[in-house]
Amino acid sequence: MHTIDMNLVEMTLDVMKYTIDRISNVTPELGSPKKEEDLLRIVGETITPQGIGGENAFKLFRDVLVKATVPIDHPRHLAFVPAAPTRAAIMFDLVTSASSIHGAYWMEGAGGIFCENQAMKWLVSLTKLPEGAFGVFTSGGTAANLSALVAAREDWRDKKSGHETTRAILIASSGAHSSIKSMAKVMDADVLLIDSEEEYLSGEELQSEISKLSKEERDRLFAVVATGGTTNAGIIDDLKTIAEVCEKEQVWLHVDCAYGGGALAANSVRHLFDGIEKADSITIDPHKWLFSPYDCGAVIYKNLELAKKAHSQKGAYLEIFKDEGAQGFNPADYQIQLTRRLRGMPLWFSLAMHGTNKYKEAIERGIELAKIAADKVKKNEHLELVRPASLSVVLFKRKGWSAEDYRDWTYKNHREGFALVTPSIWKEESVIRFCFINPDTTEDDIDKILETLN
Ligand SMILES: *Cc1c(COP(=O)(O)O)cnc(C)c1O
Repeated sequence: MHTIDMNLVEMTLDVMKYTIDRISNVTPELGSPKKEEDLLRIVGETITPQGIGGENAFKLFRDVLVKATVPIDHPRHLAFVPAAPTRAAIMFDLVTSASSIHGAYWMEGAGGIFCENQAMKWLVSLTKLPEGAFGVFTSGGTAANLSALVAAREDWRDKKSGHETTRAILIASSGAHSSIKSMAKVMDADVLLIDSEEEYLSGEELQSEISKLSKEERDRLFAVVATGGTTNAGIIDDLKTIAEVCEKEQVWLHVDCAYGGGALAANSVRHLFDGIEKADSITIDPHKWLFSPYDCGAVIYKNLELAKKAHSQKGAYLEIFKDEGAQGFNPADYQIQLTRRLRGMPLWFSLAMHGTNKYKEAIERGIELAKIAADKVKKNEHLELVRPASLSVVLFKRKGWSAEDYRDWTYKNHREGFALVTPSIWKEESVIRFCFINPDTTEDDIDKILETLN
């Protein structure tokens, strides 16, 4: 399988040609899903004892299968949290694979980990966490949140004796991402959600919630999770007052900025994150608003040693990695995964190539597009802006529409390959939600989408 033959060269050329075409296409075809049986009928079984050949398999992917996917970087893809990886980052993702580097330990991955750490240094500088804070790239926000919360719980158990087997409790606002609840389940921890209509948590509300806890519950409280940009509405909790409460109460503060983290680089909104420099841990997803290809999350700790205590794996066959010859940063020590891809490398290359100013501009453009869209909504008699644009999210209603109307509208636009915009819920009512990430989305794209609502 490893001998280089002509077929391999041809296949490589096919793949490179496709890749170059794809990344230079700013409006890729907006595909939609097909039933599995339909796909199977078209392509047939692809795994056979003899193999179907690279050319053939690639053709099936290029002509059929990729068309049953949604290109997340389409400029009229405004659903969920879209993405817009830079061409540089995508090309370097290929390089990352081609270089076959193990990213767990410095011993094997030093040069690649150096790249990741350069990018991480910039991310950490955006948070203004004190000297000594650092982080590591993960598979995404979910893994970053889990890694941070496990570190928080270990620290709580270390500091409070008698809790080796006690179920821990974390507090979060109702706007917190579903992954917080999900990862608490993985950890077998309880979640106390503070219900606030506006998806916004303040220090005052947090303090009042903590004072309501019984002595037994208070002892079990190991972390507070604040959100730096709710996924649904782009709302940033009052991090400053929340941090004060956490400091006073001596509770670990985790700030989940998986979506909003890119905006730490945007001067126009940076003040909204004030207080984040007091966090014990922070999640940022470069695959959301920092133009990295999937998948790339990041977890940052104020005190890296606490993460190491929680995550460093011990095993007879791993001891060699900690020998003198391998002195350096070991990413495996700071998050839940052992063997890992160097998923920060595409971000590094793109940052190194473009410089951080380009990143700031592209993020500011997302914020600007949200403001532009909100203004257009306000001026349209059929539409009603539900709340001001926050970060890059806009929520609005089509007057007179029911939940079914929104759903039908979404499916129609998607089926026609025109746009992917999905409804959401705000204060128990259906709304349309725009989330801007792609700086290549134009005002004309916004106009055309709004036209379909007339
Ligand atoms: C997207 C998101 C997550 C989950 O991140 P994944 O990369 O999808 O695992 C967590 N928290 C927030 C606030 C998010 O927006």
